[in-house]
Amino acid sequence: MTDYFEVHRRDGAARLGELRLSDPLRTPALVDGSVDDAGSLWTSEREVPKGYREILTVLPHRAFPAGTDERVQETFAVDYPDVDYPSAAVVTAETTGDYGADAYILSDAQGFVGHASAFREEIIAAREALPADTALYLSGVATPRNAATLVYAGVDLLDAKRARVRGLQGFYLTAEGEYFLEDLDELPCSCPACRGKRVDIDPESEPDNPAVFDREDCADHNEYALESQLATVRRRIRDGRLRDYIEGQARHDQWLTAAFREFDQQYGYVEERTPVVRDSELAAATEDTLRRVEIQRFADRVTSRYRNRFSNPLVLVPCSATKPYSESQSHAQFHDAVQYRGHMVSMTSPIGVVPMELELTYPAQHYDSVVTGRWSEDEKSFVADVLRRYLERNEYPRVIAHVPDEGYRDICERVAADVDVPFEYTVDEHPTTTESIGNLMSTLDGELKYSKRERQHNTIKALADYQFGPGAGDELFADVEMQTTSRYPKLQVRDGDTDGDGGGDQQLATMVPQYGVLSFTLAGARVWDESDAPTKRVEIDGFVPHGSVLAPGVVDADEDIRVGDEVVVEGPKAFAVGRAQMFGSEMVESTRGEAVQVRHVEEV
Ligand SMILES: [Zn+2]
Repeated sequence: MTDYFEVHRRDGAARLGELRLSDPLRTPALVDGSVDDAGSLWTSEREVPKGYREILTVLPHRAFPAGTDERVQETFAVDYPDVDYPSAAVVTAETTGDYGADAYILSDAQGFVGHASAFREEIIAAREALPADTALYLSGVATPRNAATLVYAGVDLLDAKRARVRGLQGFYLTAEGEYFLEDLDELPCSCPACRGKRVDIDPESEPDNPAVFDREDCADHNEYALESQLATVRRRIRDGRLRDYIEGQARHDQWLTAAFREFDQQYGYVEERTPVVRDSELAAATEDTLRRVEIQRFADRVTSRYRNRFSNPLVLVPCSATKPYSESQSHAQFHDAVQYRGHMVSMTSPIGVVPMELELTYPAQHYDSVVTGRWSEDEKSFVADVLRRYLERNEYPRVIAHVPDEGYRDICERVAADVDVPFEYTVDEHPTTTESIGNLMSTLDGELKYSKRERQHNTIKALADYQFGPGAGDELFADVEMQTTSRYPKLQVRDGDTDGDGGGDQQLATMVPQYGVLSFTLAGARVWDESDAPTKRVEIDGFVPHGSVLAPGVVDADEDIRVGDEVVVEGPKAFAVGRAQMFGSEMVESTRGEAVQVRHVEEV
């Protein structure tokens, strides 16, 4: 239970929140000036502090250094009092739990920060044992260089203690590194501590020169640098782009690079916390991008949920820099040659394969990759693996590989060796040469065209498979006479039943072009709820939600709900449909914040 901390936004495990002191603090933040430590119980018995509404009070505690025997920790465990002011409890990964505090301080942080695998273990253990809506505070460890990765892992509160101490020791810290003050010949910064100061004056010989940059100034600079780094991180979280930043910034220290890779291997922890849709760009600039949740999730869903419903040949084409692909010049040419006689699937690094029905679905139209034409071995084996899994799940009468030599052809040849259906290659030099386009056109001679209706229905069903699970597209619309209206990409799904049995002609769902997903009307939510397609459900108390369902109103929620998921909301008084703003277990645990953004509601 927390009254004084609220999470407003998530970007993976990183959160943008608010510590509700009298001067609210936007987190992730430095809390140096806002904390009062009631002291250690090792040194003396202490009363429960009186506490203040204005600051975060660290309750009397016993800290254990890293590696303390678990039995010792149990024996000396502190019984934290229930207080009505903002409070923090001191715990270790072994003793975390819900003590009713607003924030939790990991006392062994100095032992594991700097060691990638221990860091990953301790943070995940703590985050999973602590209530989702409490703040995690690491004290005495933050530097401008490591702050972004600490936040990326799930830390909300930091302080400037270490950065200041390093400054007084003569170390000048930046987001990229640390310099011994004496080695600098100029100050690479213009913060208030650095502005107008010089490092090329000898303080011994000119002690009274006001331009001397001394160690006290260095401590101030380090704190400014840390604050400014946290401002960058907050901006990145708000934009949903912290990961892009980390992939570059963490390179400046081996342990930080190792740390975020450690988290990539803990797929479950990061996946649970990563939104399923967003409209921000995803920069695919490093090899590590392949291991991002968004990329892995798309590849997984395309090869385990999506199913091809066309009976035409498969036409593999290269991706285009323009997104969605169909708006690029090259794809317009492919399209004119194919003329609805083939099922177009784009091959791309780092996404894998993108069937044409999913070209708008996050992150297929949101990524921006570095185009060099050279594929790394990692990229080739990733795309080959996705294509292989795709072809094991989806049968085609023919595979036409309209792909250029560089990388693409190599991948196709690797996969062709492992599957039964033969690959036919149609590219001469480049996919858009007159000759290549002619080949593509003539190789499809005699193939039947699919209709616009078939294309639209298959698109809607493909989105449903992708969003809700294998078979969802068929189960969802099994008892509905599905009709699509409006123009792609703003397709509307209607129940075309006008035979007077009460079903009527009503709208069920709309395709949302900016994320490439379906969003339901109330009638559609009813159909979804009654179908055999997996439904994500949030159970609420006896009230009728308007605009949003707040976390305290949530009685139960499916664990597999992710931020951005379409959810059915049900309670004794209401039936509603909307979009999840928290992940499932967070909705259940949290006592503050918006759990679901409600789109439509009716009283029952
Ligand atoms: Zn500075």
